[in-house]
Amino acid sequence: MKLTFSAADEAFREEIAGWLRDNLSGEFAQLKFRGGPGDEHMFPAERKRWEQHLAAGGWTCVGWPKEVGGRGASIEQQVIFFEEYARAGGPGRVGHIGEGLAGPTLIAFGSDEQKQRYLPGILSGTELWCQGYSEPGAGSDLANVRTRARQDANGQWLISGQKVWTSLAHESDWCFVVARTDPESQAHRGLGFFLVSMHQPGVTVRPIEQLTGTSEFNEVFFDEAVAADIVGAPGDGWKVAMGLLGFERGVSTLGQQMQFQNELDEIIRIARDNGAAQVPAIRQRIAEAHTGLRLMRYNAMRMLSDNGPGDSSALVYKLHWSSWHRNLGALAMDVLGPEADIIEAAPYELTRLQSLFLFTRSDTLYGGTNQIQRNIIAERGLGMPKEAKGR
Ligand SMILES: Cc1cc2nc3c(=O)[nH]c(=O)nc-3n(C[C@H](O)[C@H](O)[C@H](O)COP(=O)(O)OP(=O)(O)OC[C@H]3O[C@@H](n4cnc5c(N)ncnc54)[C@H](O)[C@@H]3O)c2cc1C
Repeated sequence: MKLTFSAADEAFREEIAGWLRDNLSGEFAQLKFRGGPGDEHMFPAERKRWEQHLAAGGWTCVGWPKEVGGRGASIEQQVIFFEEYARAGGPGRVGHIGEGLAGPTLIAFGSDEQKQRYLPGILSGTELWCQGYSEPGAGSDLANVRTRARQDANGQWLISGQKVWTSLAHESDWCFVVARTDPESQAHRGLGFFLVSMHQPGVTVRPIEQLTGTSEFNEVFFDEAVAADIVGAPGDGWKVAMGLLGFERGVSTLGQQMQFQNELDEIIRIARDNGAAQVPAIRQRIAEAHTGLRLMRYNAMRMLSDNGPGDSSALVYKLHWSSWHRNLGALAMDVLGPEADIIEAAPYELTRLQSLFLFTRSDTLYGGTNQIQRNIIAERGLGMPKEAKGR
């Protein structure tokens, strides 16, 4: 397992830390530590401008290969980038679905023309993406997708159906949509992976109000919406969609550890100030949170070390971080004590930690629920029999 960084990596750390020090200033200073979990509705226009500023500095898509316009940063440097970004209080990235999911998927599965068409907008922070996977009847069981794609007389693909929980759809220019190309097909066969512009008459976005009172995600309705492209062949959708999920669980999740450290530090500061740190049960939970975060880092480093094929250690990562973060939200409330129950003004004037508590309930759902993670660990990691499926 690799736990240290080389001198060149540390020089890279200095470079990004210095750039952030110089640039998270002026109009962007107000964005520091904003736009994270439970705060994702704040400063959307300013955060879009920040995304483009970051791009102008050459700091979007650092892990993409140089041939497609990225920095070609090594895994270690990507870890460093995400660490320093969070340490500096870099705002929640509005471009993360394009940079972390759509882009790598296009790089892996897209044609040269598709790369030329879509990657520059992600690199420059001018075109934002959302993920159209989940549907009312297809979440954990994604293969149950019902959204249809049919070809018209000109060979153009038209998409009809409903997606749900689509994060940032209201801010996005593009959506990648998993839809059924063969109406007779079942499960993971007969699906396609489509790129659909959000700016057309056949697309309707309806916000869903969350527990936090904000609307980070939406219902999205497609009514004969024109797909600009299909990635891979009709019927390849499952392969492409699963390739993308690999990126979702990859290095882009690492930056959050530093953000978690920021949150834990704030909770410890409050516990010291209000005396909660003197309560043995709270001290114990703070110590557990600290230990859990260290373990998360070692796990991430192990995951990113080349342990060869068959290494299944990465399978525990999502379950660990999501459960840890949910527990941190609960710890924050107990450290605050009765103050945690008071809302400044009805209906939803929440403090950052109140929002954190509510938002972290969703960490154990999106990107694969905890139950699904346990199934994956059991079946793929431990080789246990596959779960029985109902008829
Ligand atoms: C904040 C947030 C943002 C999201 N953003 C997006 C997005 O941008 N795009 C997108 O496509 N989706 C998004 N999602 C949707 C997310 O991927 C789904 O919520 C998730 O896959 C679970 O699906 P579901 O909600 O349909 O729940 P269901 O699949 O109906 O599950 C309900 C419950 O049953 C359990 N369960 C289901 N199957 C099994 C099983 N086989 N074994 C044991 N237990 C099981 C689950 O663990 C869960 O507790 C988002 C969700 C959240 C909360």
